[in-house]
Amino acid sequence: MRETDAPADSRSSIPSVEVVASSLDAGLPHALLVQCARGAVDAARERADGGGPVEHDAVVADARRRAADLARRLLRPVVNATGVLVHTNLGRVPLSAPTLEAIRAAASGYSNLEYRVDEGRRGSRDEHAGALLARACGAEAGLVVNNNAAAVLLVLAALARGREVIVSRGELVEIGGGFRVPEVMAESGTRLVEVGTTNRTRWADYQAVVGPDTALVLKVHASNYRMVGFVESTPVEELTVLGPPVVVDAGSGLLDAATPWLSGGPPAWLAGEPGIRQCLEAGAALVTFSGDKLLGGPQAGVIVGRADLLEPVGRHPLARAVRADKLTLAGLQHVALAYLAGEAGRLPLWEMAARTTDDLRARAGRIAERVPGAEAVPTEAVAGGGSTPGHTIPSAGVAVEVGGARVAAVLTELRSRDVVARADSGTVICDLRTVDPVDDDRLASALAAALEATSRGA
Ligand SMILES: *Cc1c(COP(=O)(O)O)cnc(C)c1O
Repeated sequence: MRETDAPADSRSSIPSVEVVASSLDAGLPHALLVQCARGAVDAARERADGGGPVEHDAVVADARRRAADLARRLLRPVVNATGVLVHTNLGRVPLSAPTLEAIRAAASGYSNLEYRVDEGRRGSRDEHAGALLARACGAEAGLVVNNNAAAVLLVLAALARGREVIVSRGELVEIGGGFRVPEVMAESGTRLVEVGTTNRTRWADYQAVVGPDTALVLKVHASNYRMVGFVESTPVEELTVLGPPVVVDAGSGLLDAATPWLSGGPPAWLAGEPGIRQCLEAGAALVTFSGDKLLGGPQAGVIVGRADLLEPVGRHPLARAVRADKLTLAGLQHVALAYLAGEAGRLPLWEMAARTTDDLRARAGRIAERVPGAEAVPTEAVAGGGSTPGHTIPSAGVAVEVGGARVAAVLTELRSRDVVARADSGTVICDLRTVDPVDDDRLASALAAALEATSRGA
C-alpha cells in the first residue's frame, strides 16, 4: 500500500480514507476518525493536483492532527486560574459532588418530576426547586426556567404583552452574551417607556409616565458596569408606591445580601450587590435571577415573588418553551436545600469566595517551589458574571515574569494543558482562588512544562 517513494504520480501515494482512519487512535468514534481521515486525504489530493509532493506518513500525520484538534474541541474540564469566580466562558460556577450526586440520583432512573407519588396523580415540576428557592429567599412562590434571560422574557410576555413597561434609561443595559434589555422587551411584545437619563432617574420621572396602560415597572440590575459620580437611581421601595407591580431583574442571584451562610458576614466585595431577599422585602412583586452566578447552582433562571403573578407566568406558552429540565431541577433543589440548611457556604462558589488569602498564599508558595522562576504573589480576583463590577477580591497566585514577547506563548502552552491563566504585561499569573486544591499539582506541572516548552526559542 505504501508508495512514499513514488514521486512519478504523487496522487497514487495517497492512502485510502479507510487506511488512514484505521491508523488513528484518538479515542474518538470511528465515524469521526473517518471524517478526519477524509479531510486529510482530500487536502493531500489537492496538493497532489497542484503538483506538490504527497507522502503517506504526512497524510496520516495530518489526519492525526485533525483528530487531536477535534478531540480537544469536545466539552471537557479545564483549570480556571483566571481568578474570575463566575466565568461564563468556562461554564460559570462549579457544582459540588453532593449536588452532582443529587442530579445523578434523580436522572439515572425515573423520578417524581411531575408526579405526586402519594396521590398517584400529575404534579408540577415547580413543586421542588422553585418552591424551595422561594422559601429560601422569603418569597411566596418560585418558578425555574432555562436561564435568567428566559425568565425576564417570560415575565414580560406573560404580564405585559401589548402594554407599557417603564425602565430607567440608566438600566437599558447589555449584559454579556447579547442580553440587551431593549431587545428583550421588544421580543416580549411589550412597549418600552424610557424614563430619566443615563446617570440619573428620579421617582418623579417614573411618576410622570405611569398610566392606565402601564403593566409593570422594571428595574434591571446594571450588573456588569457601574456608574460613579453624579448618579441617582430610584430604589425598589419608592418604585412600589407608583402602583404597578415592580419586577426586578437582579441578575446575579445573591440570595441574601447578609450572606448568613458565610461565617464572617458579607465580604467587602459584595457591597452594592442586590440580595434577592432584600429586593422582595423592599416590595418587588417579582424578582428574576440566574441559577449559575452568585447562587452557585446549575444554569437556570429563577423567578420568585407573588403567587398571583407567577401563576399566569407559569401558564404562558413560552413557559413551556423555556422550562428547566430535570437535571437542572435536581441540582437546583440540592442548592436550595443547602441555603435552607444554612450550609450554602459549602457550595464550591462560596468555598472559593471564602478562602483566606493566607491559605491561597501558602498554596501558591508550594507551587512556586516546583516551578523555576515562579513566585507567590498577592493578586486580585473578581466575582465575574456581571456581578460586583469595580470590586476586587484579595487573592493570591503564582506569577512568572517571562517578558512581553513570550507571555502569549506561555498562555497558549498552558491552554494546551487545559489551564486557563491570565497575564499582566510580561507576567503570567495563575490565581489560586478559582483553582480547586486538588488541581494544584496539575497546575504546577503544566506551568513548569509551559515554561520549558517556551524557553527553547527564547
Ligand atoms: C446575567 C444577567 C442576565 C442573563 O442571565 P442568564 O442566566 O445568563 O440568561 C440578565 N440580566 C442580568 C441583570 C444579568 O446580570
